[in-house]
Amino acid sequence: MMDMLEKCIMCGKKLKREKVDYEICGINLGKFSADICSCGEQYFDEKTAERMTEAARKAGVFGIAKEI
Ligand SMILES: [Zn+2]
Repeated sequence: MMDMLEKCIMCGKKLKREKVDYEICGINLGKFSADICSCGEQYFDEKTAERMTEAARKAGVFGIAKEI
């Protein structure tokens, strides 16, 4: 498994940890921690991704958007 990233895979810049809104089809599922790059890439760790999946499931939108 991948450890927490420090640098962006796409451009190599340093990542910044922030809370971002997670939204599927206009439904806001709350804020989750992500490592953000200035190029627009966002990385989520495994636990956060699980919680996002869970939130999507509860909201009934799981599977609509595969990409996180
Ligand atoms: Zn980047």
